[in-house]
Amino acid sequence: MELGKLIINVALTGIIPDKRENPHLPVTPEEIARDCEQCFAAGARIFHVHAREADGRPTYRPEIYGEIISRVRERCPEAIICVSTSGRRFKEFHQRAAVLDLEGPLKPDMASLTLGSHNFPREASVNSPEMIQSLARRMQDRGIVPELEIFDLGMIDYAWYLIRKGMIREPFYFNLILGSLGTASATPYNLAAMVRALPPGACWAGGGLGRFQFYVNCLAIAMGGHVRVGLEDNLYLDPGKRQLATNPSLVARLVTVAQAMAREIATPEEAREILGLTPRQSRTLSSL
Ligand code: ZN
Repeated sequence: MELGKLIINVALTGIIPDKRENPHLPVTPEEIARDCEQCFAAGARIFHVHAREADGRPTYRPEIYGEIISRVRERCPEAIICVSTSGRRFKEFHQRAAVLDLEGPLKPDMASLTLGSHNFPREASVNSPEMIQSLARRMQDRGIVPELEIFDLGMIDYAWYLIRKGMIREPFYFNLILGSLGTASATPYNLAAMVRALPPGACWAGGGLGRFQFYVNCLAIAMGGHVRVGLEDNLYLDPGKRQLATNPSLVARLVTVAQAMAREIATPEEAREILGLTPRQSRTLSSL
Protein backbone atom coordinates (compact mmCIF):
# COMPACT_ATOMS: atom_id res chain seq x y z
CA MET A 1 0.00 0.00 0.00
CA GLU A 2 1.34 3.40 -1.01
CA LEU A 3 0.63 5.96 1.70
CA GLY A 4 1.86 9.03 -0.14
CA LYS A 5 3.95 11.97 0.93
CA LEU A 6 3.65 13.38 4.45
CA ILE A 7 2.93 17.03 5.24
CA ILE A 8 3.90 18.17 8.74
CA ASN A 9 2.00 21.17 10.12
CA VAL A 10 3.54 22.90 13.15
CA ALA A 11 1.29 24.86 15.51
CA LEU A 12 4.12 26.87 17.00
CA THR A 13 2.67 29.12 19.70
CA GLY A 14 -1.09 29.04 20.29
CA ILE A 15 -3.06 31.19 22.71
CA ILE A 16 -2.71 29.44 26.05
CA PRO A 17 0.94 28.41 26.65
CA ASP A 18 3.50 30.87 28.03
CA LYS A 19 7.24 30.91 28.51
CA ARG A 20 6.95 30.13 32.23
CA GLU A 21 5.63 26.69 31.27
CA ASN A 22 8.12 26.17 28.46
CA PRO A 23 10.87 28.74 27.77
CA HIS A 24 11.25 27.34 24.23
CA LEU A 25 7.82 28.70 23.22
CA PRO A 26 8.31 31.18 20.35
CA VAL A 27 6.36 34.36 21.08
CA THR A 28 7.91 37.35 19.29
CA PRO A 29 7.88 37.59 15.47
CA GLU A 30 11.64 36.97 15.45
CA GLU A 31 11.38 33.89 17.70
CA ILE A 32 8.52 32.53 15.57
CA ALA A 33 10.50 33.11 12.33
CA ARG A 34 13.57 31.40 13.79
CA ASP A 35 11.50 28.40 14.90
CA CYS A 36 9.88 28.19 11.43
CA GLU A 37 13.26 28.14 9.76
CA GLN A 38 14.50 25.30 11.97
CA CYS A 39 11.25 23.32 11.67
CA PHE A 40 11.26 23.78 7.89
CA ALA A 41 14.82 22.47 7.73
CA ALA A 42 13.70 19.47 9.81
CA GLY A 43 10.83 18.72 7.37
CA ALA A 44 7.78 20.81 8.37
CA ARG A 45 5.86 22.55 5.57
CA ILE A 46 2.82 24.29 7.12
CA PHE A 47 3.22 26.82 9.94
CA HIS A 48 0.11 27.53 12.00
CA VAL A 49 0.81 30.88 13.65
CA HIS A 50 -0.75 32.90 16.45
CA ALA A 51 0.32 36.46 17.16
CA ARG A 52 1.15 37.87 20.60
CA GLU A 53 1.63 41.41 21.88
CA ALA A 54 5.07 42.37 23.24
CA ASP A 55 3.91 41.41 26.76
CA GLY A 56 2.91 37.92 25.57
CA ARG A 57 -0.87 38.44 25.44
CA PRO A 58 -2.65 36.95 22.39
CA THR A 59 -3.60 39.52 19.75
CA TYR A 60 -5.62 39.62 16.55
CA ARG A 61 -3.82 42.73 15.26
CA PRO A 62 -2.92 42.33 11.57
CA GLU A 63 0.17 44.55 12.05
CA ILE A 64 1.75 41.88 14.24
CA TYR A 65 0.64 39.04 11.97
CA GLY A 66 2.13 41.01 9.08
CA GLU A 67 5.44 41.29 10.89
CA ILE A 68 5.48 37.55 11.60
CA ILE A 69 4.65 36.67 7.97
CA SER A 70 7.25 39.06 6.59
CA ARG A 71 9.99 37.66 8.85
CA VAL A 72 9.02 34.04 8.17
CA ARG A 73 9.07 34.61 4.40
CA GLU A 74 12.38 36.41 4.64
CA ARG A 75 14.00 33.43 6.40
CA CYS A 76 11.96 30.69 4.83
CA PRO A 77 10.35 31.73 1.50
CA GLU A 78 8.82 28.30 0.79
CA ALA A 79 6.95 28.03 4.11
CA ILE A 80 3.16 27.66 3.90
CA ILE A 81 1.74 30.11 6.42
CA CYS A 82 -1.56 29.42 8.16
CA VAL A 83 -2.92 32.16 10.45
CA SER A 84 -5.42 31.76 13.27
CA THR A 85 -8.97 33.15 13.23
CA SER A 86 -9.64 31.74 16.70
CA GLY A 87 -12.53 33.16 18.70
CA ARG A 88 -11.28 32.09 22.12
CA ARG A 89 -10.08 35.61 22.98
CA PHE A 90 -11.65 37.76 20.28
CA LYS A 91 -15.35 37.40 19.65
CA GLU A 92 -16.12 39.89 16.87
CA PHE A 93 -15.98 39.08 13.18
CA HIS A 94 -13.93 42.19 12.36
CA GLN A 95 -11.29 41.06 14.88
CA ARG A 96 -11.19 37.42 13.81
CA ALA A 97 -11.16 38.24 10.09
CA ALA A 98 -8.71 41.18 10.22
CA VAL A 99 -5.69 38.99 9.41
CA LEU A 100 -7.39 37.71 6.23
CA ASP A 101 -7.15 41.19 4.68
CA LEU A 102 -3.34 41.35 4.66
CA GLU A 103 -2.22 42.06 1.12
CA GLY A 104 0.52 41.17 -1.32
CA PRO A 105 3.54 39.39 0.15
CA LEU A 106 1.92 39.54 3.60
CA LYS A 107 -1.20 37.62 2.55
CA PRO A 108 -1.45 34.29 4.41
CA ASP A 109 -1.70 31.05 2.41
CA MET A 110 -4.15 29.42 4.81
CA ALA A 111 -6.28 30.27 7.86
CA SER A 112 -7.84 28.18 10.61
CA LEU A 113 -11.61 27.61 10.51
CA THR A 114 -13.14 25.66 13.41
CA LEU A 115 -16.38 24.03 12.25
CA GLY A 116 -18.39 24.23 15.47
CA SER A 117 -18.56 25.32 19.11
CA HIS A 118 -17.01 23.13 21.78
CA ASN A 119 -15.46 23.12 25.25
CA PHE A 120 -11.78 23.16 26.10
CA PRO A 121 -10.92 22.07 29.68
CA ARG A 122 -11.43 25.56 31.13
CA GLU A 123 -13.33 27.55 28.51
CA ALA A 124 -15.65 27.34 25.55
CA SER A 125 -14.66 27.96 21.94
CA VAL A 126 -17.74 29.56 20.41
CA ASN A 127 -18.15 29.50 16.65
CA SER A 128 -21.71 30.37 15.64
CA PRO A 129 -23.06 29.23 12.25
CA GLU A 130 -23.02 32.85 11.11
CA MET A 131 -19.39 33.31 12.21
CA ILE A 132 -18.20 30.10 10.51
CA GLN A 133 -19.97 30.97 7.27
CA SER A 134 -18.74 34.58 7.28
CA LEU A 135 -15.14 33.48 7.85
CA ALA A 136 -15.45 30.78 5.16
CA ARG A 137 -16.83 33.32 2.69
CA ARG A 138 -14.09 35.84 3.44
CA MET A 139 -11.41 33.15 2.96
CA GLN A 140 -12.97 32.11 -0.33
CA ASP A 141 -13.16 35.72 -1.55
CA ARG A 142 -9.51 36.25 -0.61
CA GLY A 143 -8.24 32.94 -2.07
CA ILE A 144 -7.07 31.69 1.34
CA VAL A 145 -7.30 27.92 1.94
CA PRO A 146 -9.05 26.99 5.20
CA GLU A 147 -7.42 24.67 7.72
CA LEU A 148 -10.66 22.94 8.75
CA GLU A 149 -10.31 22.25 12.47
CA ILE A 150 -12.39 19.29 13.65
CA PHE A 151 -12.76 18.36 17.33
CA ASP A 152 -15.80 16.08 17.03
CA LEU A 153 -17.56 13.95 14.44
CA GLY A 154 -20.51 16.32 13.98
CA MET A 155 -18.17 19.06 12.82
CA ILE A 156 -17.50 16.93 9.71
CA ASP A 157 -21.24 16.85 9.02
CA TYR A 158 -21.10 20.63 9.14
CA ALA A 159 -18.30 20.57 6.58
CA TRP A 160 -20.59 18.59 4.27
CA TYR A 161 -23.24 21.30 4.73
CA LEU A 162 -20.73 24.02 3.80
CA ILE A 163 -19.68 21.98 0.75
CA ARG A 164 -23.32 21.70 -0.40
CA LYS A 165 -23.70 25.46 -0.01
CA GLY A 166 -20.50 26.08 -1.97
CA MET A 167 -18.82 27.83 0.96
CA ILE A 168 -15.77 25.55 1.02
CA ARG A 169 -14.24 23.92 -2.04
CA GLU A 170 -11.76 21.16 -2.91
CA PRO A 171 -9.02 20.40 -2.22
CA PHE A 172 -9.92 20.18 1.48
CA TYR A 173 -7.47 20.16 4.36
CA PHE A 174 -8.97 18.77 7.58
CA ASN A 175 -7.21 18.80 10.92
CA LEU A 176 -8.64 16.13 13.21
CA ILE A 177 -7.67 17.15 16.73
CA LEU A 178 -8.31 14.55 19.42
CA GLY A 179 -7.77 14.25 23.15
CA SER A 180 -9.21 17.50 24.49
CA LEU A 181 -11.42 17.26 27.59
CA GLY A 182 -14.92 17.94 26.26
CA THR A 183 -14.55 16.66 22.70
CA ALA A 184 -13.57 13.40 20.97
CA SER A 185 -11.02 11.42 22.96
CA ALA A 186 -7.78 10.17 21.40
CA THR A 187 -8.68 6.63 20.36
CA PRO A 188 -7.95 4.90 17.06
CA TYR A 189 -11.69 4.22 16.74
CA ASN A 190 -12.57 7.92 16.96
CA LEU A 191 -9.86 8.81 14.45
CA ALA A 192 -10.98 6.07 12.06
CA ALA A 193 -14.64 7.13 12.35
CA MET A 194 -13.71 10.71 11.53
CA VAL A 195 -11.55 9.73 8.56
CA ARG A 196 -14.37 7.59 7.16
CA ALA A 197 -16.79 10.52 7.46
CA LEU A 198 -14.59 12.85 5.37
CA PRO A 199 -15.29 13.63 1.71
CA PRO A 200 -13.57 10.91 -0.36
CA GLY A 201 -10.00 11.81 -1.20
CA ALA A 202 -9.90 14.73 1.28
CA CYS A 203 -6.52 15.59 2.68
CA TRP A 204 -6.44 15.23 6.49
CA ALA A 205 -4.01 15.58 9.35
CA GLY A 206 -4.15 14.03 12.82
CA GLY A 207 -3.25 15.97 15.94
CA GLY A 208 -3.59 15.25 19.64
CA LEU A 209 -3.63 17.52 22.66
CA GLY A 210 -1.10 17.19 25.47
CA ARG A 211 0.18 13.67 26.02
CA PHE A 212 -1.95 12.39 23.13
CA GLN A 213 -0.08 14.37 20.50
CA PHE A 214 2.63 11.86 19.62
CA TYR A 215 0.18 8.96 19.81
CA VAL A 216 -2.33 10.51 17.39
CA ASN A 217 0.50 11.69 15.09
CA CYS A 218 1.79 8.10 14.87
CA LEU A 219 -1.69 6.76 14.13
CA ALA A 220 -2.12 9.34 11.37
CA ILE A 221 1.25 8.56 9.81
CA ALA A 222 0.38 4.84 9.78
CA MET A 223 -3.05 5.52 8.27
CA GLY A 224 -1.77 7.65 5.41
CA GLY A 225 -2.84 10.97 6.90
CA HIS A 226 -0.77 14.06 7.55
CA VAL A 227 0.10 15.46 10.99
CA ARG A 228 -0.23 18.55 13.13
CA VAL A 229 2.32 18.87 15.91
CA GLY A 230 3.79 21.73 17.96
CA LEU A 231 3.93 23.52 21.29
CA GLU A 232 0.45 25.04 20.84
CA ASP A 233 -1.01 21.59 21.54
CA ASN A 234 1.67 19.97 23.68
CA LEU A 235 4.67 21.26 25.68
CA TYR A 236 6.48 17.99 26.46
CA LEU A 237 8.35 15.21 24.71
CA ASP A 238 7.21 12.51 27.13
CA PRO A 239 3.82 11.60 28.61
CA GLY A 240 5.28 11.95 32.14
CA LYS A 241 5.95 15.68 31.44
CA ARG A 242 9.60 15.53 32.47
CA GLN A 243 11.22 16.65 29.22
CA LEU A 244 10.29 20.00 27.71
CA ALA A 245 9.82 19.91 23.94
CA THR A 246 10.90 22.41 21.31
CA ASN A 247 9.07 22.78 18.01
CA PRO A 248 12.05 21.53 15.95
CA SER A 249 12.49 18.50 18.26
CA LEU A 250 8.82 17.55 17.84
CA VAL A 251 9.13 17.79 14.05
CA ALA A 252 12.40 15.84 13.95
CA ARG A 253 10.88 12.99 15.97
CA LEU A 254 7.97 12.66 13.51
CA VAL A 255 10.34 12.64 10.55
CA THR A 256 12.13 9.67 12.16
CA VAL A 257 8.81 7.84 12.61
CA ALA A 258 7.79 8.60 9.01
CA GLN A 259 11.12 7.33 7.69
CA ALA A 260 10.73 4.12 9.70
CA MET A 261 7.34 3.63 8.03
CA ALA A 262 8.80 4.47 4.60
CA ARG A 263 6.75 7.64 4.25
CA GLU A 264 8.58 10.38 2.44
CA ILE A 265 8.28 13.99 3.52
CA ALA A 266 6.52 16.18 0.93
CA THR A 267 8.75 18.75 -0.71
CA PRO A 268 7.49 22.35 -0.46
CA GLU A 269 6.24 22.13 -4.08
CA GLU A 270 4.47 18.82 -3.46
CA ALA A 271 2.84 20.18 -0.30
CA ARG A 272 1.55 23.24 -2.20
CA GLU A 273 0.17 21.02 -4.94
CA ILE A 274 -1.60 18.70 -2.49
CA LEU A 275 -3.16 21.71 -0.73
CA GLY A 276 -4.20 23.44 -3.95
CA LEU A 277 -1.93 26.42 -3.32
CA THR A 278 -0.28 28.28 -6.15
CA PRO A 279 3.52 28.12 -6.19
CA ARG A 280 5.10 31.08 -4.45
CA GLN A 281 6.56 33.61 -6.84
CA SER A 282 10.03 34.48 -5.67
CA ARG A 283 9.66 37.96 -7.14
CA THR A 284 6.97 38.87 -4.60
CA LEU A 285 9.59 38.54 -1.90
CA SER A 286 11.64 41.40 -3.30
CA SER A 287 8.83 43.77 -2.38
CA LEU A 288 9.03 42.81 1.30
ZN1 ZN B 1 -4.19 27.60 16.81
